Amino acid sequence: MKVLLVNPPYGAEERYGKDLGRFGPLNEPLGLAYIASNLEKAGHRVSILDAPALGIGSGDIPELIQGDGYQIVGVTMLTPMYARSVEVVRTIRDAFPEMVIVVGGAHPTILPKETLLRNPEIDFAVLGEGEGVMLNLVNALENEESTAEIFGLAYRTGDEIRVNPVAMSVTDLDDLPMPARHLLPMNAYHMTRSRTKSNHAYTVSVARGCPFDCAFCCRIFGRKVRHHSVDRILGEIRILIERYGAKEINLEADTLTLNKPFLNSLCEGLISSGISKRIAWTCESRVDTVNSELLRRMKQAGCWQISYGVETGTQRLLDLIQKGIILERIERTFALTRQIGITIRAFYMLGLPTETREESLRTIAFAKRLDAEWSQFTLCTPFPGTEMWNLAVQDGGLRSQDWSDFKTHGGWTSGRLAYVPKGRSLSEMKSLQKRAYRAVYMRPKVFLRFLRNVDSPGKLRVYGTGLWVLIKSVLPGSRGLSKKARRVGKNLLKEFARGVYVDSPVYFAGNPLVRSINWRKLDAAVSLASSDPAFRALDFCCGNGVLLPTLSRDFRKTVAFDLHTTAAARLKKQFHLDIPLLRADANKAPFKNGSFDLVFALSSLEHFRELDPVVSELFRVLRPGGRLVFLSPTENLFYRIGRRMLGYTKPEDHHHTAATIEGNLSRFLRLYYARNWPFDASSLFSMYRVALFIKEAGKKED
Ligand code: SF4
Repeated sequence: MKVLLVNPPYGAEERYGKDLGRFGPLNEPLGLAYIASNLEKAGHRVSILDAPALGIGSGDIPELIQGDGYQIVGVTMLTPMYARSVEVVRTIRDAFPEMVIVVGGAHPTILPKETLLRNPEIDFAVLGEGEGVMLNLVNALENEESTAEIFGLAYRTGDEIRVNPVAMSVTDLDDLPMPARHLLPMNAYHMTRSRTKSNHAYTVSVARGCPFDCAFCCRIFGRKVRHHSVDRILGEIRILIERYGAKEINLEADTLTLNKPFLNSLCEGLISSGISKRIAWTCESRVDTVNSELLRRMKQAGCWQISYGVETGTQRLLDLIQKGIILERIERTFALTRQIGITIRAFYMLGLPTETREESLRTIAFAKRLDAEWSQFTLCTPFPGTEMWNLAVQDGGLRSQDWSDFKTHGGWTSGRLAYVPKGRSLSEMKSLQKRAYRAVYMRPKVFLRFLRNVDSPGKLRVYGTGLWVLIKSVLPGSRGLSKKARRVGKNLLKEFARGVYVDSPVYFAGNPLVRSINWRKLDAAVSLASSDPAFRALDFCCGNGVLLPTLSRDFRKTVAFDLHTTAAARLKKQFHLDIPLLRADANKAPFKNGSFDLVFALSSLEHFRELDPVVSELFRVLRPGGRLVFLSPTENLFYRIGRRMLGYTKPEDHHHTAATIEGNLSRFLRLYYARNWPFDASSLFSMYRVALFIKEAGKKED
């Protein structure tokens, strides 16, 4: 059969934020490459479409594969990339109604039923290790046999979802053929800047499984540790060197140092084969699984960096997350590793369940003291299927069950968080994350260390950019804006507004400062909106339609209305927007209850003398769990003086301040996040208030 495997367009920018995304990795999707080679071995024809490596979006896929005759498409689905995976699935289903669509990965493994129920476009979900299950499925489909008995498969029968028991893990990893790297654009890949010295750095999977109990980990490969043989690993590395010019390798295993006899023989093999002279390598480890003898052997065999998960700087939280290590051991292992001459990457988490601000600050102080060459601070996301999920539920800080909110938040976190410890705020957590990076990296001794490391103009540029990103994080107006509203030229807008009622001429004002302020406030609002493109969005009182090009870009279905729509209709026509645009009164919005996942009420609510009926309509048209993005002027002294200085007077129909409206909305909806714009830190010097509200399931109108 002809099979296409797709890695969804979930790139480094989305994972680490716009600024830090450029330092992020672009790793080869080894899981898909393993599945592909196993299918190829059985005679099937397979391609891999790695969207991040090709720089393509979901919408590009149909054209790319049109006419290639694929019968089955398999799509990777991990929780952080859930929205992107769904986007790919729906795009393929729309373009190829007869295609068999399969998803696999941690998300459907943990939530098979829910995944199929929520996404009728998916035919099958592969659970656990994918190679054997996918092969059995493709064989059964080719031979027109029943798929009902295949272990590790979830599928539909009529309206019902059936979930078969998970298949046995691959016992001998060497039974799997080498991953099908020939199907990947190998030149496109690079590791994260903190993990590589060269451009030709690749990953070799050496082991699967982990016996430890860390609360944040779902151990998708199970507890039993299995290795490839040393010969097989050496053979794979040789291919990477000879065929792809590898200069560095990351030896991937949950904890490479767990099985010391195995690692000793691998090191022996690397040295005796001469490979250790040709490549350098890195790995992940736990501080309680190394000793000086092993570290020395690893160093001799070419290891130059180890990544350790420290997680937190307090023993209480280490115990809570079942890390099974003590702080003192972390310090000892760091000192030992450094003494032996291996550099360290350290991972920390902020915002663990029940974590207090003092504990967050202790983690930052601990990271400074440990002084790893590279440190990464992640804001805690409790993923489904982990013990952390249960801890977060107990703590009461879980804010969302929309999977598009469950990101890894390893870089500059923008947008929403699925979890914030009870009693703490989202903005506090975001600013603590930035503070942590600044505390660790903006120190004279760290500058000197980086300077000593500079051996090429390219590296100088990377370090310089990193420094600028850190400096930028303390500048006002730079926080949390991950998205930009799509701009519409001022002359066009002026043309659309000619001769008709227009409530917001500021977007085409002659003064560039006024235009910039107003477009950037829209950036702040769209940055708050969901990244789930499947959402049905409503532009509530769309005015002259400035937001419509953005909404049609970001969401699959957008509807807009206003009492006066002439200008918006002209804009819609000019941009060929497929958006229903209705003339309607906001007091009687012409939509059924719960019609929308997301409603934008931007610079609109202040215009209504009577707020209650409009707010009540907003509440009604949102579905339970749906979100409202709200933006209005503060009308504080700073705003009024600024408006006067820029030559504007207060419009007669600005009846309310942002604070009044926010208070009114809070009666019906839960305030999820709010910020002052442009200066979040000070309400005195802000011009707008932008906020995200959620309609809680089961909440009735007051
Ligand atoms: S040691 Fe690593 S792989 Fe093992 S449970 Fe902890 S986080 Fe997961």
